[in-house]
Amino acid sequence: MTFFRRWPKPLLLGVALALLLGGVWAGRTLVLSYAAARSDSNAYIARWFLDSGARASLHNARAQRCLTPLAQPAPFMLPSDGLIGLLWDDPAAPYTVFNPHTGIDIFGDGAPGTVPVYAAYGGYLTRLNDWLSSVIIRHDDPLQAGRTIWTYYTHMAARDGSHSFVAAAFPPGTANVWVDQGTLLGYQGEYAGAGAPIGMHVHFSIVRSDENGAFTNEARLANTLDPSPYFAMPLTTLTARSRPIACLPPP
Ligand SMILES: [Zn+2]
Repeated sequence: MTFFRRWPKPLLLGVALALLLGGVWAGRTLVLSYAAARSDSNAYIARWFLDSGARASLHNARAQRCLTPLAQPAPFMLPSDGLIGLLWDDPAAPYTVFNPHTGIDIFGDGAPGTVPVYAAYGGYLTRLNDWLSSVIIRHDDPLQAGRTIWTYYTHMAARDGSHSFVAAAFPPGTANVWVDQGTLLGYQGEYAGAGAPIGMHVHFSIVRSDENGAFTNEARLANTLDPSPYFAMPLTTLTARSRPIACLPPP
């Protein structure tokens, strides 16, 4: 590389730095445009909050229960009414393709603390001592005999964390209390812990067990399951391209 030897060292370093920064910038642009192509969830969420007149045309009702390919009602019922905004494996901001959304976010119509959240399926409810806005329910997996799964519900508290919207029947420290499908768990809120609140909703995810049968960290996509077959609805960005979400078509 005799050619470069004639260049002064600071200039060489400058060129290398420029190439590196250019590469990082191009990579970031590529990742962001891929995420934008993969997900239009934020456009629907923005419409939900900016145009309240459009809400009726965007929302899913709990009562609309889809049928499975065997023409049976889907095992899970939606836990709340509203816009199914963020989907499973959704890279829309504040998530990324490297850290996608692990459940579904349902944005309700009403004030924080007034839009009910219900158990999607019967099971044993636990609320850890330090859980202000969350509950988790353990289930026998209706789609895979012998497997234990969990459904997790969160953001059920006031924005500033001053009070919880979890139902009084489930105080902190509740462990393994049976709840039927459709039991009131609490109300949608804006609480996001240390994160930035993104408007009132409930986050719902289906969580895998670890080897000891305990629930795993639901913030990691690999620890969660695609909720689509449990609701017989297309609930990933690759399958759902509009709102409200329609039922999965019969095979
Ligand atoms: Zn969420």
